[in-house]
Amino acid sequence: MSIGPRARGFFEVVQGYIERAAELTRLPSHIKDILAQPKNELIVNFPVRMDDGSLRVFKGYRIQHNNIMGPYKGGVRYHHQVSLDELKGLATQMTWKCALLGIPFGGAKGGIKFNPREHSVDELRRITRRFTHALGNNIGPAHDIPAPDVGTNAQTMVWMMDTYINTGSTYEKNDQRAVVTGKTINAGGSEGREQATGQGVVYCIKEWAREARLDLEGSTAIVQGFGNVGSNTALLLAKLGVSTIATGDHTGYLRNEEGFNAHKLQEYVRTHGSIEGYPRGEQITREEFFETKADLFIPAALENQVGASEAIKLDVRLIAEGANGPINPEGEAVLADRGIPVIPDILANSGGVTVSYYEWVQNRNSEHWDAEEVQRKLLHMMRRAYQRTMFYAAEKKVNPRVAAYALALESLATSYDERGIFP
Ligand code: NAD
Repeated sequence: MSIGPRARGFFEVVQGYIERAAELTRLPSHIKDILAQPKNELIVNFPVRMDDGSLRVFKGYRIQHNNIMGPYKGGVRYHHQVSLDELKGLATQMTWKCALLGIPFGGAKGGIKFNPREHSVDELRRITRRFTHALGNNIGPAHDIPAPDVGTNAQTMVWMMDTYINTGSTYEKNDQRAVVTGKTINAGGSEGREQATGQGVVYCIKEWAREARLDLEGSTAIVQGFGNVGSNTALLLAKLGVSTIATGDHTGYLRNEEGFNAHKLQEYVRTHGSIEGYPRGEQITREEFFETKADLFIPAALENQVGASEAIKLDVRLIAEGANGPINPEGEAVLADRGIPVIPDILANSGGVTVSYYEWVQNRNSEHWDAEEVQRKLLHMMRRAYQRTMFYAAEKKVNPRVAAYALALESLATSYDERGIFP
């Protein structure tokens, strides 16, 4: 099965966006130099006992890109393709995402290079606990706060929290719950965090549809990736009357002209681990997926999925990037030529980090907000970021991605300007 365009350095791709934003904002070069590299790049190798009694050594990473706006913040990815380059790019994006949204966090990303699907729950728990232990005081509620990403979930975060609490200082244990976000509600998670990224994607789509005068009721979508972000986006779109007519994951692609029942498909993926074998859909190729005519395309899998050859096939009116970095620069150039608008990742999928921030605030204040309060605050933040980005894009005659990067860069640069460089 073809898995996408030729792999290229994601960190380099993100640097390219920053370069373009810097040209627009006429930034002093020393600030660009500071932001060009992560502050800390941590690599840990740690042994874990497998169920059969053998030992396996894993390689884990935590990249802390920048913390001028607040503690480092970003997901933890479990995937066999995790690499230093990929995580540096993703950590950099987190700095930009938080700055764009005005969230008082910096940027980070971490992960372990392995395939979590090949391990039992017991092994996953031991891997997560040893990784957290190896990170030690390099994470912390006021220093660096991990969250779920590809291959990790609320359970992973609860294991991380529990390990951190139990191996750290003996007092103020409950305050330490804020060391990770995206936890289960029982363990101190926020209402709405599980769906937050998809919810943010949908809020952006609604804003665009209103301006584009597209009636979402009765419209169609194709969704690549049916994990946390893809499935929740499909589910929330369904509530607005949008049918998901094609989807796909690491096992293949399915089409259903009538529209999938997003709830049932989500349940199926939870039970079976993928969409493979789901009976209510016809199997199609990856190429056929990208050719499927629809109103919306939501990439929600991995980076670098849409290159020039995918971009030329897409027959959609809007792309909202649920995933980080799903469209590469060649793909983006083709989409621009074809006039297909893209709501960029650092805006479209920022609902996740926004509700992570709310979770952190609730933990630190020993509060629990109800779902309506979380939604109201999220909608307000997303709308503001969306409007600012689109206004800036129109004013400077640049695409929304460059606008989003430039707006974030302006606030990062202002912080450096005000604080100066130590000593
Ligand atoms: P997940 O692990 O829950 O789901 C990932 C999905 O991608 C799965 O359906 C998987 O099968 C699919 N996939 C993997 N490899 C694929 C391939 N080669 N082709 C097609 N599909 C493939 O992860 P998630 O949390 O939903 O994250 C998805 C994307 O969204 C990532 O880019 C992530 O960084 C981004 N994101 C996630 C969050 C969050 O809150 N979880 C927040 C912001 C951005």
